[in-house]
Amino acid sequence: MTQKRDYYEVLNVDRDADENEIKKAYRKLAIQFHPDKNPNNKEAEDRFKEATEAYEVLRDPEKRQTYNRFGHAGLEGMTTDFSGFGVDIDDLFGDVFGDLFRGFGGRRRTPKSGRNLQYNLEVTLEDIIHGKEVSIQVPRVEICSICSGSGAKAGTNAVTCPQCHGRGQISQSQGFFTMARTCPRCRGEGEIIQTPCPHCNGKGAVRNTREIKLNIDKGVDTGFKYLLRGEGEAGLNGAPPGDLYVVINVAPHERFRRNQNDLITSAKISFVQATLGGKISIQGIDEREELRIPPGTQYGAQLRIPNKGVPIYRRSDAGDLIVEIEIETPTHLNGEQRKLLEDFAKLRGEPTNQEHEGFWEKLLGRHEEDDTE
Ligand SMILES: [Zn+2]
Ligand SMILES: [Zn+2]
Repeated sequence: MTQKRDYYEVLNVDRDADENEIKKAYRKLAIQFHPDKNPNNKEAEDRFKEATEAYEVLRDPEKRQTYNRFGHAGLEGMTTDFSGFGVDIDDLFGDVFGDLFRGFGGRRRTPKSGRNLQYNLEVTLEDIIHGKEVSIQVPRVEICSICSGSGAKAGTNAVTCPQCHGRGQISQSQGFFTMARTCPRCRGEGEIIQTPCPHCNGKGAVRNTREIKLNIDKGVDTGFKYLLRGEGEAGLNGAPPGDLYVVINVAPHERFRRNQNDLITSAKISFVQATLGGKISIQGIDEREELRIPPGTQYGAQLRIPNKGVPIYRRSDAGDLIVEIEIETPTHLNGEQRKLLEDFAKLRGEPTNQEHEGFWEKLLGRHEEDDTE
């Protein structure tokens, strides 16, 4: 398969197929091509994966809409691996996957590792400069605490299936042939729950929102991933749980922009300060900082205040605070000020402002008509 097939074609459904038709179509293919049923069959495995991918997209109204409009390209970069949020527990444990978990491989409940989850956490620039402990609320599937995942009501146990006597399969004779098929009573598990746990309705798992505490380290940046092992969704039937990835997104700041570990801000100074030099006060991330302006500073100059930027991840030092200098040109001068500047220009041998040809025009790059006495 070099070219990706159309998802509707993969599932063999119409473009306007409803949720149920899509579910049914996938179920049919999943059962046909499930790896447990087709060991060492690469083609079946590919078909299974292809169908699962198509189903993952078409079952999700948002993804389906994106796909309808933009095709495969529209979904690029979407992490299907981490589609843990929004997965309906009924889909996980109910009719779509029920057969897959229970039906194949015959005996007992097939273990299945829990899904990985991704949580996108937005933090502020201040958070990653100071470090912060955050609490996040993660919705996920957990083992039912009442029945410990057995699905049976407390004090009761699953009993051996009376129809297949625990084999999970029954034999049927048809003429000369004897065929084995999945036991319909226990759906291949070999045992049945007579009294389901009322807390989880016999599913052995419940949907829960769990509070997880996480320390945001100083200096992390957008895209940084924390891996919390075992904090994903519960595994089934003794399988290990998935992992939780917390992905950091640092929100834009109104005064600072970040470049690696440096913080960049800007400051306006007068042309006199720029020319003569001096000291100004800058609002840093926490406190005001003093900045020395060297004489002859040009517009756009980048002046550094060392060690006042973002702390470097897992180190004790920090980047710099970089101040981009903007020079304010006065737009209104009184007569005396104007006279002084004209004298200054004369002293420098620059032509002065007689009839639009002078210093001001050059300085402002435009005509200045409104300030003549
Ligand atoms: Zn339970
Ligand atoms: Zn049975």
